[in-house]
Amino acid sequence: MKRNWLILALGILLLVSLSCASGHEVGFPENLPVARDISSLESRLSSAVSSCDRLSMKTIGQISYGAYQSPVWVVSFSPAVIKRKVLLSGGIHGNEPAGVEAMVQMVEMLAKDPEKYGNIAFDIIPVVNPWGWSHDIRFNQEGCDVNRDFATFKCQESAVIRDFVNGKRYTLIIDSHEDPDAKGFYMYQYANPDTWLSRKVINTVRNQGYPVEQDVNMIILRTEDGLINAPLWGLWYMKLTGQLSITNYFRLNNSNNVYTIETPTKLAWEDRLNMHRKALGILLDSLQTTIR
Ligand SMILES: [Zn+2]
Repeated sequence: MKRNWLILALGILLLVSLSCASGHEVGFPENLPVARDISSLESRLSSAVSSCDRLSMKTIGQISYGAYQSPVWVVSFSPAVIKRKVLLSGGIHGNEPAGVEAMVQMVEMLAKDPEKYGNIAFDIIPVVNPWGWSHDIRFNQEGCDVNRDFATFKCQESAVIRDFVNGKRYTLIIDSHEDPDAKGFYMYQYANPDTWLSRKVINTVRNQGYPVEQDVNMIILRTEDGLINAPLWGLWYMKLTGQLSITNYFRLNNSNNVYTIETPTKLAWEDRLNMHRKALGILLDSLQTTIR
């Protein structure tokens, strides 16, 4: 028995020593010109929020790098009676813009059709990493991969999200990404043995004529026909090796039902948005059918 524990401890030590890559880069110049204007997002969000009294928008943190300043916003949707709570986020990697656009369009859709999701309340964080989005760069200004920082919280952005979700529970959480290397759509689920819902999303995307990714490796995991099904031990491994992602963190702290959506940036903008809309729609509809 003692020997088994020793082997396990040595195995863990070996894994930790093999995988201390945080994915972080050296920082970027403070005067780097912006590629996108964050105020255009703010005005779209504000105008949607002002048109619907069930929507509200607040600043949950201020990202600050010298002259560059941007709030991190959460837009909340509150129906008269709340039966489910959903958290949606995008833009943790700044060079994955369709995830952000999908979040903004979700806010605009809720403003136009507030009855669509009945008794579901939403918290929507359209841009977790505004500096990255503004500069079309994966990292934050300091070169931190915010999506590997949820064990250590060295980045401003991850600390803002941690403080916002502290003590909150959600029925469903979805984080929207893109992948510059992928050839097709794929998604993650976490510590969830039931794959039917993810398979429904993947098959729907495929039936729309879009490619499904067959060949992405994510540190210790690999896609199986468009799905990376991260086991619970994988989340603890990521925590132990200091690489915990936002969704890993959400799964360990805020919800049993967490997904990441990934679209390939190689495909056309409208196709990527359509894939995000389809995936969000199916995951949200799965909640609605259980409410009624
Ligand atoms: Zn990403």
